[in-house]
Amino acid sequence: MLKNISVTLDVEDLRPADHFEDRSKLMTEKVLNLFAEMKIRATIFVVGDVAKKHPEVIKKAVKDGHEIGLHSHKHIPLQLLNPGNFEQELSDAKTLLQEISGQQINGFRAPTMSLTPETKWVIPIMQRVGFTYSSSVLPAKNPLYGWDGLPTHPFRWFNSVIEFPCPVTNILGFTIPYLGGAYFRLFPSIIRKIGVRRSSNKEVLWTYCHPWEFDPNESYYQLENVGRATSRIAWIGRKKMEGKMRVFLKDASSETLGDIASTMNLSKLQIVDPEFSPLGKK
Ligand SMILES: [Zn+2]
Repeated sequence: MLKNISVTLDVEDLRPADHFEDRSKLMTEKVLNLFAEMKIRATIFVVGDVAKKHPEVIKKAVKDGHEIGLHSHKHIPLQLLNPGNFEQELSDAKTLLQEISGQQINGFRAPTMSLTPETKWVIPIMQRVGFTYSSSVLPAKNPLYGWDGLPTHPFRWFNSVIEFPCPVTNILGFTIPYLGGAYFRLFPSIIRKIGVRRSSNKEVLWTYCHPWEFDPNESYYQLENVGRATSRIAWIGRKKMEGKMRVFLKDASSETLGDIASTMNLSKLQIVDPEFSPLGKK
């Protein structure tokens, strides 16, 4: 039905304050158990602060055969970070994940796809810190983030890492990241089928989901750095998430993004210079 789609999970703790119950460990274990049952290997991108608090979750993911990647040191959009501190913080979080997992950490995913023209200062830092690939951009116009004009297939940043752009498709005039997050939770499977059918063979398709999306019992709180409507949407459709994912995983691929990056012929990838116009425009 759907062609090979890699599976990724972003492990994060979105609570704005400690008095809300921390359910990140419980829900991550729930999703890892689902992956194990469905015999799926995935890339698990983990926020550094969550890894520090729940190292046993990382160890379970490694034991189950997953690749571990870094989802930044804290779950703060890149636009709100201080470039001066970022390199050290990213490097420290990568080292921590390597110590806990025993794996070389090769992949980076920015929080909320926040690698945009405004935050392109991150690109050389990813290279210096030692990542070989990133999956941090939405190659389209988007109300939150997005970098319109980027290729929709994997490419290489000039002098730097491989980028796996978030898969997008056009539905009724809107270009949407149809394979993951709220789009996965709220849209029927026909949207995914249409998007996959339209995708080119050059694209690397991946879904992204979050442990909290599998949690219908979490009490509501307002998410930070987003509006009220976006925050509310994060609580819709959670009850049906596990069932939908179970169906989806039947056709998913067990090839992780790290597997794909390691077998790519780098000399054949398009090179994108983030300074080059018109790709540098917002
Ligand atoms: Zn995230």
